[in-house]
Amino acid sequence: MEETKKDYDFIVVGAGYGGLTAAALLAKENYNVLILESHYSVGGCASFFKRNGHLFDVGATTLSGYDYHGPLKRIEEELDFNLKIKRIDPGMIIHFNGKKIHRYREFEKWINELNEHFPGIDHRAIWSEIEKVGEKAWSIINETPLFPPSKAKDLLSYFNKHLPKYLDLLPFLFKSFISKMPKSAYQNKDYVQFLDQILMITNQGKSKEVPYLMGALGLNYPKDTLYSCGGMVQMAHKIEEKLKEHGGRIKKRRRVYSIHKKGPIFRVEANFNEKKEFYYSKNIICNLPIWNIQNICEGKLKKYFEKKSQTYNKSWGAMTYYFTVKFQHDLDSLYHQVHSKELYSFIKSESLFYSFSDKDDKNRNKSDSLSVTVSTHISNNEFEGMKKNINEKKIKFEEIILENFKKIFKDYGIITIGKGEVGTPLTFEKYTGRYEGRVGGIPHLLDYYPFLYPSCLTPDSNFFRVGDTVFPGQGVVGVVSGAFSLVHRILRR
Ligand SMILES: Cc1cc2nc3c(=O)[nH]c(=O)nc-3n(C[C@H](O)[C@H](O)[C@H](O)COP(=O)(O)OP(=O)(O)OC[C@H]3O[C@@H](n4cnc5c(N)ncnc54)[C@H](O)[C@@H]3O)c2cc1C
Repeated sequence: MEETKKDYDFIVVGAGYGGLTAAALLAKENYNVLILESHYSVGGCASFFKRNGHLFDVGATTLSGYDYHGPLKRIEEELDFNLKIKRIDPGMIIHFNGKKIHRYREFEKWINELNEHFPGIDHRAIWSEIEKVGEKAWSIINETPLFPPSKAKDLLSYFNKHLPKYLDLLPFLFKSFISKMPKSAYQNKDYVQFLDQILMITNQGKSKEVPYLMGALGLNYPKDTLYSCGGMVQMAHKIEEKLKEHGGRIKKRRRVYSIHKKGPIFRVEANFNEKKEFYYSKNIICNLPIWNIQNICEGKLKKYFEKKSQTYNKSWGAMTYYFTVKFQHDLDSLYHQVHSKELYSFIKSESLFYSFSDKDDKNRNKSDSLSVTVSTHISNNEFEGMKKNINEKKIKFEEIILENFKKIFKDYGIITIGKGEVGTPLTFEKYTGRYEGRVGGIPHLLDYYPFLYPSCLTPDSNFFRVGDTVFPGQGVVGVVSGAFSLVHRILRR
């Protein structure tokens, strides 16, 4: 048994985007920070794997959050790095019921596209409001890092020059997205289906379940779509470099299995190969999902997280498929959402999200073949039912995808399709340690709004949380934003 006694100001458990961002920002403020990460690479759900010369994104494939001086723009500025990114416009193409809808960035172009596919709806009014509210929502999240309030002290901090802006937005937190749509929109089944499937990938909920405010942020997301050259993990690598430059440390292949507090100091136990290691710190930042934490803590924290896991029990898993393809013609977007009835009959999920590597991204491709990541939601119950015949189900899933792919992408001239691999919630559980392979965070549902979405604080004032099960959660942009907010709280203590 090896004892590595070292005192840190902060130990961060997990090097997903949440843990990395918080650690690097604190290291920049001269705190003594250590990250313990169970995998040999950083990035968690936004990491990568390699096969036969191809680099695949494991989960997340799109960056967003550069517009309105959003969190990804801010982290680049704050840590002073430049990521090689490429704006993708149209940010997404949506295929359903014979339609092919291009999500253009430019407002007039987007409105014309909607008018062509869904005549008789006042798209200009609907999308002007979505843009206006989305922009304001980002500014409240950026300017008011203590939102949503966790204590009365936070509420008081709102009474400043921004108050009128917040009051303006308040009604949008209580109403569902669909309830604020005109009749011509909510009675159009195709239109609702179209909105719902975008909201499923950005908010993990549908238009009748998500508050208007979060829905507006989610619907703006594909307008601000960026491709990360070299894969989604590149920004994580940049943040890791900056962490080290500022004196922070990271130890990989360390799986934390216990956090125990004695007096004011936390003792963190981790496995490294066959050995146990012990680390000591005044503060903990936990980048694990809310459902994982009960298993590594004791006492009041354990009880607290047991309870929270039950409160926030709505979540999704993901089914994924990774393969390679060579096309004759260039794609008109790297991101395509395809609605599929076959998929619905199989796992009750309604759409597939196809993400392609850029043809010029030599670090990800081989011999002009592109790397493709396909993902879709699966409910925990649905996956439980699949587990018995998992191999059979994986084959069926692969068949559905390949059939769907050949039909939808035939116009690009498919030359060859390479061998693929299926990922399930078990795969995510194995590689990211996430409880039951639950991914995508806690859905933005009305049940949790305005003030019940879980925060970064816990009953122990030195134990904090970051990641996609902390407000605003949801994707890399939400996670980075949550980390900014946490560090702001810590610095003003
Ligand atoms: C299929 C799919 C598609 C997605 N698409 C997008 C997208 O296009 N754009 C987008 O922005 N977001 C997307 N997301 C969501 C996004 O990937 C996540 O919300 C985000 O990456 C989560 O970051 P995190 O820091 O909260 O946690 P994670 O990424 O889960 O990181 C947690 C880290 O903790 C480590 N860890 C776990 N247990 C331990 C332990 N006991 N000890 C030490 N370390 C541990 C893990 O190895 C991991 O590195 C997608 C997610 C999935 C699954």
